Amino acid sequence: MRRRVRRIPRRSNSLGVVTTSATADPVRYVSTRGRDAGRRFSEILLEGLAPDGGLYMPTRYPRVDAATLRAWRSLDYADLAEAILERYIDDIPAGDLRDMVRRTYTAEVFGTREITPLTPLEPGIVLLELSNGPTLAFKDMAMQLLGNLFEYELGRRRETLNILGATSGDTGSAAEYAMRGKAGISVFMLSPDGRMSPFQQAQMFTLQDPNIHNLCVRGVFDDCQDIVKAVSGDLEFKRRMRIGTVNSINWARLLAQVVYYFAGWLRATGEDGGEVSFTVPSGNFGNICAGHVARMMGLPIRRLVTATNENDVLDEFFRTGTYRVRGGAETFETSSPSMDISKASNFERFVFDVVGRDPDRTRHLFAEAVPRDGGFTLTPGEFARVAEFGFTSGRSTHADRLATIASVHRASGRLIDTHTADGVHVARSHTEPGVPMIVLETARAVKFADVVREATGVTPPLPDAVAGIESLPRRFEVIPADAELVKARIAEDGTRA
Ligand SMILES: *Cc1c(COP(=O)(O)O)cnc(C)c1O
Repeated sequence: MRRRVRRIPRRSNSLGVVTTSATADPVRYVSTRGRDAGRRFSEILLEGLAPDGGLYMPTRYPRVDAATLRAWRSLDYADLAEAILERYIDDIPAGDLRDMVRRTYTAEVFGTREITPLTPLEPGIVLLELSNGPTLAFKDMAMQLLGNLFEYELGRRRETLNILGATSGDTGSAAEYAMRGKAGISVFMLSPDGRMSPFQQAQMFTLQDPNIHNLCVRGVFDDCQDIVKAVSGDLEFKRRMRIGTVNSINWARLLAQVVYYFAGWLRATGEDGGEVSFTVPSGNFGNICAGHVARMMGLPIRRLVTATNENDVLDEFFRTGTYRVRGGAETFETSSPSMDISKASNFERFVFDVVGRDPDRTRHLFAEAVPRDGGFTLTPGEFARVAEFGFTSGRSTHADRLATIASVHRASGRLIDTHTADGVHVARSHTEPGVPMIVLETARAVKFADVVREATGVTPPLPDAVAGIESLPRRFEVIPADAELVKARIAEDGTRA
């Protein structure tokens, strides 16, 4: 393991966040709500929330200087991922980490040698393709690495894990494709019976791996989530069966997403570097939070533009400084469903930095103000930092999505999906001369074929890798909405040490 003995002096930057210029002390992770000494990466890898209800954050952002960025121009994606990840993961031997990263980011899994190709879309706007993985959405970028990290860490500890999740689409399939065939891991994925798109059902249900269990609940998505809560709330069962999750607050998932911001910048700029901006179709704020981390590390990012759909809780925050969580009746079902959120589960990480990493202030906002008042308003001083961190936002509607999908198709011949369309729509009003605008492509058009056809009259073709998937044999079980029954299925088929 590479470890420097020389202590590098720490300094606070103008925003009060400690940065260092190279790896010094071991990397530690603290809760956004607590003051404990911090834990190592492999201690938080398998965790969701911190015990005090906060989210894990590194105590500092390792700085990457201009010379290092120049040197990274010659790296392929896997080597770039290794160079970034090793700055946050120092308790896995370097050779093992390298091996996992190289097994994850292959042309075989992600369709191209570049892994995340950059495609010009229209003047000033380029698309960073993140959706060429097995489930055709950007969640594969992080989840595929998580599968290898989980298998490795569980093997090292001689432990097992039963992953229990609820999905209405993208997350569940990305988790199943990441965990299929992994030693020591079983997946029990609940989905509302008959409510996922035909393509999403085909993706999940045609997996034949014995460690993957699709449980279709007679009910809606909320019923699935209630069952996950009930099962996880039975602490004795949870401990005995080693129940875990892979939700979007997992730090390793966020970390894996930091890599493609660097990859995008390296491809969009010449030898001399220069600034770029990113527009990110956002829901739970995981994807764009990774952009914030990249910027804090020193990547020359000018603007991070948060794009929302009609569920605009984040756009409202960036315009006003008020974060107002929505109720069920105020949460709309839209044609970009993966962004239909009422609150953003990763947002607390960003606010932690905005309030100068004050855990008491963060706890007040998220553990007191949000449950009591349904939200909070930042002080003017705090809100000023949001802009200093490069953040801005915009929102998009169903009509905007249709118009954007159609105009992109007319101009470039390319079909984009509804979420990416939200991004392109918002990006168009945030471009600046001389600053390339990179829109993150979060899913492939074929996943939302009906809307794309409505907008363009063209049916997006199935990629070769998944051609014929809809006629393969399926494995799933339809069950009533009953937590006890789900427990029984896990006890019966789950992995045990
Ligand atoms: C998950 C998802 C998003 C939202 O990403 P967050 O990290 O939750 O902000 C956007 N688009 C698609 C297609 C997704 O699957």
